[in-house]
Amino acid sequence: MVSKRFSAGNADAVTMVKDAADIVDVVGQVVKLRRVGNRYLGLCPFHQEKTPSFQVDSQNQLFYCFGCGTGGDVLSFVTKSQNLSFGEALEFLADRYHIQLPDKEPGQTSGEQESRKEAQGLYQVLEVAADYFYQQLHHSTAGDTARRYLEQRGLPAPVVEEQRMGYAPNQWDGLLNHMRKAGIDRRAGIEAGLLVASSSDRVYDRFRHRLIFPITDDRGKIVAFGGRSLDGAEPKYLNSPETPLYHKGRMLYNLVRAREACRQLRQVVLVEGYMDLLAFHARGFYRVVATLGTALTAQQVRLLRRFADEAVMLYDGDEAGQKAMFKAMPLFLGEALPVSCPRLPTGMDPDDYLKTEGLAGFEQLLEQREDLGKVAITRTLAGWDGTLAGKSKAIEQLQPLFDAAQQPVLQAEYLRLVADRLGLAESVVQSQLQRNRRSSPGRGGPARVHAKVDFDDPHNQTLEEKILRVVLKYPCLIQKFRDSGALEHFHETSLRTIAEALMQTDPGPGQSVAGLYDRLRDADLQETVSRLLLQEDHYGDLEAACLHFDDRLGALKQRQIKKSRKDLLQSIRQAERDGDQLKVKELLQQFQSIYCTRQDLSPDGSP
Ligand SMILES: [Zn+2]
Repeated sequence: MVSKRFSAGNADAVTMVKDAADIVDVVGQVVKLRRVGNRYLGLCPFHQEKTPSFQVDSQNQLFYCFGCGTGGDVLSFVTKSQNLSFGEALEFLADRYHIQLPDKEPGQTSGEQESRKEAQGLYQVLEVAADYFYQQLHHSTAGDTARRYLEQRGLPAPVVEEQRMGYAPNQWDGLLNHMRKAGIDRRAGIEAGLLVASSSDRVYDRFRHRLIFPITDDRGKIVAFGGRSLDGAEPKYLNSPETPLYHKGRMLYNLVRAREACRQLRQVVLVEGYMDLLAFHARGFYRVVATLGTALTAQQVRLLRRFADEAVMLYDGDEAGQKAMFKAMPLFLGEALPVSCPRLPTGMDPDDYLKTEGLAGFEQLLEQREDLGKVAITRTLAGWDGTLAGKSKAIEQLQPLFDAAQQPVLQAEYLRLVADRLGLAESVVQSQLQRNRRSSPGRGGPARVHAKVDFDDPHNQTLEEKILRVVLKYPCLIQKFRDSGALEHFHETSLRTIAEALMQTDPGPGQSVAGLYDRLRDADLQETVSRLLLQEDHYGDLEAACLHFDDRLGALKQRQIKKSRKDLLQSIRQAERDGDQLKVKELLQQFQSIYCTRQDLSPDGSP
């Protein structure tokens, strides 16, 4: 994600705009809000729902949706709901609240503005390149091979046109020369990922003799290119490297078009290849996105969740395609986005299928799609060799699936399926899973995704999250939190970062932690803050909150004591095994001095 913040000089502009704007007023223009206590409730504009899970906190000027996990401040609401950049959202709000933004003269640019300017520059460079590739495809003899390839693949002209596809000729300096003539600095070409600088300072074209697919960001601006080799050269697909504008793990091919097309049905089809996707476009089907030559990431799944309630994975029918699909499964479970897959005939890719069966055939296939988790289970168990050892092994293989599937309904469903196929009682499968978890503690915890899925259930919050939440809600506890030294016992990095920033926040007389939001630079952290603040609590009043806080703090400290006690005992045992008597003695003394003088612990370490 491009940095959402204006630093230095523009920080004033952000503060001015945020001070003037009222989130209830701004959201109210888009969402019908109902007041409940000190918050407002409405139907989420970012996902489809019938009962409101979208909430606005006027005191802290934040919003959060418990349905889809979107949250933020007034600026991020405007960027998301109107599809604007941060700068555009700032201007939009400034305009609405009659705020005069500071002039942006080139001589007095701040760091952020520089990078904005630089980004503008890169967009322009990419546009020039796109035009060049387009010209080469359509109006040069060199483009012959590429044109023939498109014809042979059966890609209709309107799709080629709409995608602004192009051709990079078989030259080391085709684009380089073109850019020179256009007055573009070669450094800009390198930064945009179009040119490559060799170690001997030679600069040359990255894409040579390749069919070019422009890749756009979520506003439809070209940020990168994919190039398919036309003579069997490896790799088959070559993509732009990561640049300030292009982050392949956070973008999806043809996202903009799919987002529009998903409005009605809120179902999106996910394919692996550019040509697969375009085969759909050629048949007027636009509810489809593709990954950009890498495995699917959690960020991409979150992106999908913003506009779809169901994902359909349509990967190649070969072994590699199936493997990639099953590997992605925990990501969907982690984001609580239902995912299914239609069964492509073995060895067929989506493009082949559409060619033989047409769109109507695909629609039929789509009707018969199955839950991906169930497909994964069925496939894994199909490999069961009938032996007893094979049973445990099969369950072990399915462990990641169960770890990620936190929704009880899914868990139960999967459990039943596995038990059924292996001829075991569900309770046996369950205890085997638990045993595996205990014997490999590292992987039992889908901690991060887990916390996300169950965010509406306060009982599933971690201790650290509970503490942080009560301080966020009652900022008068910040001092107490600071003094308690609890921070050093925070293990979860994101919560720790938030806690650190919170300790530097002055809630002021309004007891608002709105300032904290601006201090955090990461969108995920900002969303976490919005969620924690808007989560329903049962503290009642400050007094009850204080008790709750003390209680949790005590538990955190106990946890720490137990842990260091365990560590120390382990070191003693290790020293004993090593036969290091001196060390054993030393450690035992240490142990006694710490634990045998403490009144608050019984000998076995429990409180
Ligand atoms: Zn929502």
